[in-house]
Amino acid sequence: MAFCSFEVYNLHLKRGIRLRNITAIVVLVLSAVVAVVAAAPLLVASVGQKGQIMSEGTEAVGKAVVENLVIKVFYDNNPYKEGMENDWGFSCLVAGAEKTILFDTGGNGSILLGNMEKLDADVNNIDTVVLSHIHADHTGGLQGFLQKNSEVTVYLPVSFPKKFKDDIAAHGSKIVEVEQPVEICGGVYSVGQLGTLIKEQSLVVRTDRGLVVIIGCAHPGIVKMVKAAKPLIEGELFLVMGGFHLEWSTRGKIKKIISSFKDMKVRYAGPCHCSDHRARSLFQKHFGENYIDIGVGKVVTLADLK
Ligand SMILES: [Zn+2]
Ligand SMILES: [Zn+2]
Repeated sequence: MAFCSFEVYNLHLKRGIRLRNITAIVVLVLSAVVAVVAAAPLLVASVGQKGQIMSEGTEAVGKAVVENLVIKVFYDNNPYKEGMENDWGFSCLVAGAEKTILFDTGGNGSILLGNMEKLDADVNNIDTVVLSHIHADHTGGLQGFLQKNSEVTVYLPVSFPKKFKDDIAAHGSKIVEVEQPVEICGGVYSVGQLGTLIKEQSLVVRTDRGLVVIIGCAHPGIVKMVKAAKPLIEGELFLVMGGFHLEWSTRGKIKKIISSFKDMKVRYAGPCHCSDHRARSLFQKHFGENYIDIGVGKVVTLADLK
């Protein structure tokens, strides 16, 4: 459609020059501007846009600090709050920044929306969706969510299939394809697309307490994903939470990861989703009071943590 508009514009422009009619040129230029403006949202929706790439020492890195960060867990296979439906997958709300962000969507739209309601979260308050990776237990709830609120910008790894992006564009939502680290809004970042086989991005928030890293499933490796945050964004690691991908992992492997967390001076740890019972109990043992039991319905209010 946009392409056709440009063809007509070129044809008219040639004819206009031949006639040397200034009025005609003015009219055609104006109509071309209207055509471009009308086509712009379609181009963004169907082709997508790249996020603002961060590089050190530039304004894009930003220095904003998020105060009063609140994280509400809408979707997890670990039960936490009574009355919430637990199901395999992960999704949480990240509130308190310039944008209100839904990180991942769980596997099922109606479970997601039902749990949001039970946690007093208004679906229409969300303006940004960040998808960690393509697996259905993180993206399956998106269609149901977009049916309720399509006025959002969806940040996804650039490697996502075209069909998936087209389905989002069909709702009229904007897409930002993430490859390099990007600043989503003041103090909130994606570390960029990591990994080889299953590409994944995580969310990092610079808060008044330190850095908060939220991870979907950690397919590229939990330590690698946490380490990716550090050189990009200054600050101590305050909290790392989400899926650590430690199912069927040996005690030895889990203990190595815990000691890497200690080396990186991670203050609080909240493994959930694909972290598995064994890893959760070992993290609890080693982090003691600084272990956060994450499950569906959990609300993490940073101001309440020591
Ligand atoms: Zn996965
Ligand atoms: Zn998963």
